[in-house]
Amino acid sequence: MALLDSWRIDLDTLNWEQLSSRFKDIKFRRRRDDFLERTFSFMETNQFNSAFIQELKDKGAKIKFEYWIKEPSVGYANFEYRNSILRWHFPPHVKLSTRARGYVRDKVLFHELAHLWFGNIWNGENVCALNDLEVICEYIGRDNRTNPELLGEVLRAFNLRHYIYDIPSLDALSPPAFSEFRDYFIKKGYTILKD
Ligand SMILES: [Zn+2]
Repeated sequence: MALLDSWRIDLDTLNWEQLSSRFKDIKFRRRRDDFLERTFSFMETNQFNSAFIQELKDKGAKIKFEYWIKEPSVGYANFEYRNSILRWHFPPHVKLSTRARGYVRDKVLFHELAHLWFGNIWNGENVCALNDLEVICEYIGRDNRTNPELLGEVLRAFNLRHYIYDIPSLDALSPPAFSEFRDYFIKKGYTILKD
């Protein structure tokens, strides 16, 4: 089941500060909400890291691109892949628009990977819970995207074109770019994109 990320467009309007504050609000509610409690305890006991990217690779995960005349910032993930009973969800995949380039592509990609990471924690019980999960995935996605090692690993693991648009995306290059190249980008005003 691929689910349309109709929340994406709303999430795109949030800058990092607004997104973080929504994330903190949700985290604050965890004690009173069973779904949120499960979500945050999963986050605390599991890591969105290299091991997870390797796990996805081992399961034959694919990043697919399709041309679609929609917002390039919309993405899909079959995010119940951890439930082995639902075999038709295999292999796990993420679908992105070919129109998504640079930071937008990576931001959406990491958001969708966050969905795969949470897997069947999402229970589809109610729209509110799903809405919260969208904010959480966006926060996790944007935050992890700024980790150059992880970004580089994802791009290499799935054979994706490497875009340079900020410092982490430059540092994600392997082998690392020459330092004068880095200085050039910094002089040009490149920082760390999170908004
Ligand atoms: Zn989503």
